[in-house]
Amino acid sequence: MTTRFSFEFFPPKTEAGAERLLQVHQQLVSLGPEYCSVTYGAGGSTRERTLNTVLAMSASSVPVAPHLSCIGDSRESLKQILGTYRQAGVHRLVALRGDLPSGQVGLGELPYAADLVAFIRESYGQEFHIEVAAYPETHPQAENFEQDLRYFLAKVNAGADAAITQYFYNIDAYWHFCERVRQAGCSIDIVPGIMPITQYSNLMRFSEACGAEIPRWLRKQLAAYADDQDSIRQLGEEVVTRLCQRLLEQGVPSLHFYTMNQLEPCRNIVMNLGLQT
Ligand SMILES: Cc1cc2nc3c(=O)[nH]c(=O)nc-3n(C[C@H](O)[C@H](O)[C@H](O)COP(=O)(O)OP(=O)(O)OC[C@H]3O[C@@H](n4cnc5c(N)ncnc54)[C@H](O)[C@@H]3O)c2cc1C
Repeated sequence: MTTRFSFEFFPPKTEAGAERLLQVHQQLVSLGPEYCSVTYGAGGSTRERTLNTVLAMSASSVPVAPHLSCIGDSRESLKQILGTYRQAGVHRLVALRGDLPSGQVGLGELPYAADLVAFIRESYGQEFHIEVAAYPETHPQAENFEQDLRYFLAKVNAGADAAITQYFYNIDAYWHFCERVRQAGCSIDIVPGIMPITQYSNLMRFSEACGAEIPRWLRKQLAAYADDQDSIRQLGEEVVTRLCQRLLEQGVPSLHFYTMNQLEPCRNIVMNLGLQT
């Protein structure tokens, strides 16, 4: 059985960025992903840019899945976006709560991702394949693991088809989460989100914010390389390739790569794993 994989991009801010992204997208698409996804700024902050990126990528034969968040948005505006995607032939979505930019307040009419999933199902039945987020190391704002797990299961009960995880480097956390989800009687695919390592300080900052643990041995080694970007990239590629190999050996259904709009890190890992078709 061939291993499925997907790529995630974010909508660029400039025209030059948009052109560069389409080139990266084209090259990554040639590896044979199942689909590509495009992130969305909570509260509608990237509404147009996400839409334009999705429409531009739709020209390729690989399906595009827009992310859509509900926090700070009204049902009416979500319906408008969903209507546009439907007309553009989009059949796949990543449904999220999102994080409001600092300073912005108000949860909106649909405060949690489970509410958004239920809303999409009520409005459009089974027209969209819906992916939701999962947090093997617990969502940073969650009270505890058990609560977070219950809220995750609520998204599945509301109609999610599959889940993509926050990135992790602690494989045990992923398997523990999957085991608990299975014990709760839920059998949906829980696709590991894979973040290549290309930089030290950004990775540390981002991981701190989203609750992903960088194991001590890895942190120490990355820190020791300081500004030596080549060594960081080389170590990162080895470590992330090995993480993916172990996940695949243990039977994960698919891998979702956070590309950060860069070509090489994800392309190298996909090629190291021999996943290209
Ligand atoms: C694969 C992936 C893609 C992402 N893409 C984007 C993106 O495009 N744009 C973006 O802005 N962000 C994105 N994020 C980040 C995400 O939006 C944040 O992590 C956000 O804080 C939570 O979103 P969620 O959909 O997981 O929320 P939810 O599942 O709603 O959970 C959010 C928090 O609320 C708690 N909770 C859930 N339901 C309830 C309830 N009924 N009562 C009380 N507490 C509850 C949960 O335990 C959790 O702590 C992505 C994350 C992942 C893993």
